[in-house]
This record gives sequence, C-alpha cells and structure tokens, in this order.
Amino acid sequence: MARREHVQIKSRSELVHMRKAGLVVARTLDTLRAAVRPGVSTKDLDDIAERFIRGEGAIPSFQGYQGFPATICTSVNEEVVHGIPNKRKILHAGDIISIDCGAIVDGWHGDSAITVPVGTVDAGLLAFMAACEESMWHGLAAARLGGRLTDISHAVESAVRPHGYGIVDHYGGHGIGTEMHQPPHILNYGRPGRGQKLISGIALAIEPMITLGGPETRVLADEWTVVSVDGSWAAHFEHTVAVTEQGPWVLTAHDGGAAKLAELGVSCGEPSVQSRAVS
Ligand code: MG
Ligand code: MG
Repeated sequence: MARREHVQIKSRSELVHMRKAGLVVARTLDTLRAAVRPGVSTKDLDDIAERFIRGEGAIPSFQGYQGFPATICTSVNEEVVHGIPNKRKILHAGDIISIDCGAIVDGWHGDSAITVPVGTVDAGLLAFMAACEESMWHGLAAARLGGRLTDISHAVESAVRPHGYGIVDHYGGHGIGTEMHQPPHILNYGRPGRGQKLISGIALAIEPMITLGGPETRVLADEWTVVSVDGSWAAHFEHTVAVTEQGPWVLTAHDGGAAKLAELGVSCGEPSVQSRAVS
C-alpha cells in the first residue's frame, strides 16, 4: 500500500516533455538500426549514439549511471542486457544484437531497446525476436486505466509462453520520469490483478527479455554484462509508455504506438491521434 507514494505521477505537460526525450531515443535507435552490419564494432555504435543524442541537444542517460561507461548497452547473442560497447567486439553476419538506449531532455527520461539481426540471420531467430517485440506490445496494451501492474506482467508472459521461450528471471521493467529507474519494478511474468493501480500519469518502461533456452542469468566479470547461464541467445525489446485517460501513450514510438495498439484493439493516448479522432 505504501508503495504508491513512491510512484511519480506526471501531469499532461510533463508527459509532453517526456515525449521529447522519447522521440530522441526513437530517432537514435533508428540511426543505430541502420548502422548495424557485419564488421562494425559495438564501440562504433556507441560513438554514433553519443554523437546523435548530443546533436539533438539531449543527454545520454546511461553514461555514468552507477558507473556505466558508455552511451548505450550492446548485448550480442547470449548476452541478455547491459553489455558494454567495446572496439574489439565486432559484429558478424548471423549475430543478433540488443541495443538499449536512454536520453534526457529538460530533466525527463526516455528508455527504449531493440534487438536487430546482423546481416542475414536464421529464420528461427527472426521469429524469436518478433515474438519478443510482440510480447512487449501486449504489455504496452495492458498499460490501461483501471488495470493493475501485474496485468502488464501477465500480458507479456501470456504472449511468450506459447512459443516455449525462456522468460528471464528477476529482470524487468520500471517506472520512469525524472529518473531513469523509479518504482515500481515490473516482472515479465506473474498473475494479473496485483500491485500498483494503473492511474493516469504513471509512466513505465516495459521490457521483455527472453531466451531460446532457460530463464537463469549471470553477470560477467565486467560486473555489467548479463548472459544466459545456458548460453542460449537472448532478445530484448523496450518502450516507455504513459498511462493516460485516452489509452497507453508509447512515448518512445514515433506514432505513440497508435498502429500497433490498434491491431490489438486498444486506443492510443497519443494527442495527435486523439485530435484526429475527435475532428
Ligand atoms: Mg533500457
Ligand atoms: Mg529500462
């Protein structure tokens, strides 16, 4: 019960600021997606990200976060999250890479992640990545007024389980606003109907992390990189979403999530979508 006091509620105008940060992150990830190819190092991607974010007049939020030494997290193959960019880590055709990116505009944070193929990859891996992204959208669609936090967890889990992939233990999403990580923590599995009530002005980062094998992870000696214990490859997708009266507003998606949410039968809180619907 006491938890709710720690959840930051944003006004409409504060969400408009968060949207600016979200769009910087969206554009940065577009740029990085286009830069991923065999022969590129993860440090090359980090340099591109830093230049792009600063060029937008924003601040890379990961730099120095609990001592993190880079602008983005780059996690390749069996690396799940929090991989540190490195000039010796060269991408090869057939790899998959998860890129996690955060930026700050006027003190407000955006946080989003994608997993992309390097060159041509196995069709099974494409299906695996698509399932992870789809599960994220089911979670985002559950970020609705009147629901509870674990409705999101359950929606993600329900979308992943039929495929038989592993859902990473312990790690999950989080509240976000004037800090990147705020309460509440959001597991990617669990029974619905529990935890924080989803009320207008809550902003959450929803981020499924799944593997082709089991759910257990460990952290490498660099004290950052999280890998699957069984060596199975992993995928990670993330968007930042605000709960609004009109529906989920995906702050790190170019269209506010409108197209994908419509597919799932959920109306979107993106203001431009709303004004079109009214007129
Ligand atoms: Mg992230
Ligand atoms: Mg996050």
